[in-house]
Amino acid sequence: MKIPVPYVNDDVRTRDFKYYIFDWDDNILHMPTKILMEHKGADGEWRPVELSTSSFALVRTDVEHYRPPASGGWKAAFRNFADPEKEDEPNFFLEDTMSALARVAAGERPSPSYSTFKKTLVEGRIFAIVTARGHAPGTIEKAVRLFIDYALTGLERATMMSNLRGYRSWLDKVEKFGTDAEELDYYLSMCRYCAVTYDGFRKLMDNDPIYREKLAAATTASRPELAKEFAIRDFVEHVFHTLQRKGGLDRSVAIGFSDDDKGNVASVTNYIRSELSRRFDGIKFVVYDTSDRSLLKGRKVCVSGQMNLPGF
Ligand SMILES: [Mg+2]
Repeated sequence: MKIPVPYVNDDVRTRDFKYYIFDWDDNILHMPTKILMEHKGADGEWRPVELSTSSFALVRTDVEHYRPPASGGWKAAFRNFADPEKEDEPNFFLEDTMSALARVAAGERPSPSYSTFKKTLVEGRIFAIVTARGHAPGTIEKAVRLFIDYALTGLERATMMSNLRGYRSWLDKVEKFGTDAEELDYYLSMCRYCAVTYDGFRKLMDNDPIYREKLAAATTASRPELAKEFAIRDFVEHVFHTLQRKGGLDRSVAIGFSDDDKGNVASVTNYIRSELSRRFDGIKFVVYDTSDRSLLKGRKVCVSGQMNLPGF
């Protein structure tokens, strides 16, 4: 096949710096994974109930009527959202990602940020996946690779590679490129995969003096939001330091965050306004609330920062 795009897309040099943080479930893909909770009936009895992630997002702060299983707690509630204990066991995340991608391929309407995620990959922009799941970063990266293999067309993958080489040539001064697989590895290693209930991520938070203190003071229900904050701060710092190192801070930088959970959207918006936008006052922050499935790309709820970029 003749590729009608430049092998090395030098046009990336004229681009603004736009990066995204994506929640995964119901934002990028509608995953079939269920959360195992207990629901309090009118008779006051707690009974097991399986919730989809979108239902869970609606009720998770309703502690009067919903709770994690009395035996096993949150770990039991999310046992289908973590990697299997043994390597030869099936990984639900990868299987559910495949079936979610298959449903989109068969014509089901994709989640609100599906097309933005796809565009981010094709353009070769750095991104972060920040999810309440409990997977190792390598598992999420594998799911991103499935997305690249199945949601992008051959032409889109070729365009992505030419953009990646364009960035390598511009920002890393690379003249001799690796194979496609090596360049893709390099790109995906620049991105962040944060499953905030993964043990390794929890340890990172525990080792941070500010968040150790914040976590100790937080209620159980607000901990996932705090963890998302921590992951977002980590990604913004990563982007900032990367650009600083590569001399790319001479143009506008914008970071978008999308999530279908209203609680996360509210707490992240508040966090950006009260802390991040002050610390990184040259960066424009945009938050998308994708809880309303009837809206194609969600609702833009917060804009902070000086720059006003077209198309954001
Ligand atoms: Mg979600």
